[in-house]
Amino acid sequence: MLNQSAPPKTNTPPKNCRSVTSLLLDYLSEELQPEIAVAFEAHLGQCRDCLSFLNTYKKTIEMTRAFLSEPSIFQASSPKSGYSQEKTGKEPR
Ligand SMILES: [Zn+2]
Repeated sequence: MLNQSAPPKTNTPPKNCRSVTSLLLDYLSEELQPEIAVAFEAHLGQCRDCLSFLNTYKKTIEMTRAFLSEPSIFQASSPKSGYSQEKTGKEPR
């Protein structure tokens, strides 16, 4: 069974680039558990690809923040927007 629509909070350390990049958002919003964050940073110390990806991501967030002029961009400002009902056209196979 594939369950890609709403991944649960990860509590295993990232082992590869894919899992590291999937944790970027949590890392930047400081929601990672300390152990995970340590493993995350350890990977960044070894992997230039992920490090540059993180820097790009940070810049994007800073630009978005400046553009919106809001302190937190990770929280939905309007719960009535019906975002959760949006259908993805993809079916996992
Ligand atoms: Zn990597």
